[in-house]
Amino acid sequence: KTFKDLGVCDQLVEACESLGWKNPSKIQAEAIPHALDGNDLIGLAQTGSGKTGAFALPILQALLESPQAFFACVLSPTRELAIQIAEQFEALGSSIGIKCVVLVGGVDKEQQAKNLANLRPHIIVGTPGRLVDHLTNTKGFSLRTLKYLVLDEADKLLNDEFEKSIDDILSVVPRERRTYLFSATMTKKVKKLQRACLRNPVKIEV
Ligand code: AMP
Repeated sequence: KTFKDLGVCDQLVEACESLGWKNPSKIQAEAIPHALDGNDLIGLAQTGSGKTGAFALPILQALLESPQAFFACVLSPTRELAIQIAEQFEALGSSIGIKCVVLVGGVDKEQQAKNLANLRPHIIVGTPGRLVDHLTNTKGFSLRTLKYLVLDEADKLLNDEFEKSIDDILSVVPRERRTYLFSATMTKKVKKLQRACLRNPVKIEV
């Protein structure tokens, strides 16, 4: 199957081609049609499977249909993963003017706050602690208009350090939204999170 067969629009098929993505990976082939149909997703998949593309392409396609600032938020357990996710969004979205801001620790908060205000990004990728910090302290920044929430590496997001931040984030995102949860393993905590924040999800395992 090709990306076009999965329902990916021409602009994004071109973006995939320009990255050298000739064919969808397994998780992309299974997840993208369900995501484009408007379903929540649970993906059991490892890094390297192409899971970022599996959630980025449906989000970018929805964004093309109704462009809006603060459209999607991706939560990552580590800075490195957050940066990689943002790079893939930017690579896929560069030709269509997608703006992305990364909110992670160890980087100047003031500069991040300026980027939020000046760029008014479509996509926010962050680690839970720093994201909550901005939700609390950065004037004018909120996730009230969010349409998509992604919980990446959910098993790692649910450590003691992040649990409170995740609760805080879930309490301020709109109930009417799509949610994609990706995890390498299905633990008790991941199941609990799934029940708390996904609606009739389609489960994909690769
Ligand atoms: P991920 O599992 O999302 O971290 O992706 C792992 C790597 O695979 C990244 O470098 C992607 O750019 C690359 N990749 C993702 N999807 C495809 C695809 N359909 N074809 C070729 N490479 C891909």
